[in-house]
Amino acid sequence: MTTETAPPRMRIVRHPLRYRLLEVKRVHRVTPGTVRVTLGGESLEDFHEQAPTDHVKVCFAHPGDALPVEPVVVDDTWMDAPVEPVTRDYTVRHYRRDARELDIDMVLHGTGVGSTWAAAAAPGMRLGILGPRGSEEVPFVHDWYLLAAEETALPALGRWLEMLPAGVRVIAFAEVPGPADEQHFGTATDLTLTWLHRGDAAPGSTDLLERAVRAADLPGGTGFAWVAGEANSLRPIRRHLRNERGLGKDQVDVDGYWKRGVVNHDHHEDEHTPHA
Ligand SMILES: Cc1cc2nc3c(=O)[nH]c(=O)nc-3n(C[C@H](O)[C@H](O)[C@H](O)COP(=O)(O)OP(=O)(O)OC[C@H]3O[C@@H](n4cnc5c(N)ncnc54)[C@H](O)[C@@H]3O)c2cc1C
Repeated sequence: MTTETAPPRMRIVRHPLRYRLLEVKRVHRVTPGTVRVTLGGESLEDFHEQAPTDHVKVCFAHPGDALPVEPVVVDDTWMDAPVEPVTRDYTVRHYRRDARELDIDMVLHGTGVGSTWAAAAAPGMRLGILGPRGSEEVPFVHDWYLLAAEETALPALGRWLEMLPAGVRVIAFAEVPGPADEQHFGTATDLTLTWLHRGDAAPGSTDLLERAVRAADLPGGTGFAWVAGEANSLRPIRRHLRNERGLGKDQVDVDGYWKRGVVNHDHHEDEHTPHA
């Protein structure tokens, strides 16, 4: 799918970098493997989010501590400090300014600070958030959008589907363990969403998304592809979209949200379009 004229570029909109200490107001199992944590606090009054992939650094307390270490931020820059906060990236699923509430959906994958915290989350617990540092704005001018995600990226997939313009063609694939892990997303788009079940296979170990993307029948016109999930499993998808589908750099955003065997994977180290 090549384009005759260059589509408008993605751009990063920067936001003032601010730390907020929040309290858990509600906890809800979205699916057997995902916990929705609703965080509240007056400091959310001037919180800002605007793009599908907006995310925050969630700051967890060190073992034995009641509160997270506050990151040192000077002039919108997160500085090195003698004691660093423990952080993980999570997508802003919903923000309700009037209620000063933020929802994040946390996958229970077994080990890790984030997953362990989420499994025990209860009202009254406290959590810090830093950011979003910026929003990756994709111009909503394309004729079609290809979206592919596994569980950790379903919050962002939901946001894409809620934010994309009414009537635009969207082909989406979502990998989850089984039917109980599927979610319903509201959308005004012309959506075909296919759920892919990996069954007992380990997360990040299958090529389900790759095979689905390879087989996708993409419409004509200009398109944009966003894919997020386990970093290694996404590499062939990125190559396919760029080399075989011929999508330009600004038409592809493939983001490794985590990497098998790696604690706190840094998604900026992967080759992908620039991120906030
Ligand atoms: C921009 C961005 C947005 C993200 N949004 C979300 C979100 O909204 N919800 C969400 O749940 N996650 C999200 N993630 C992914 C999340 O940051 C990682 O899964 C993170 O590693 C979780 O931290 P942890 O402390 O639980 O595990 P870590 O301590 O980082 O890792 C411990 C072990 O668990 C493995 N592991 C990590 N994640 C998974 C997984 N999903 N399944 C199986 N094994 C895993 C690691 O490979 C490692 O071996 C996002 C990541 C990015 C970069």
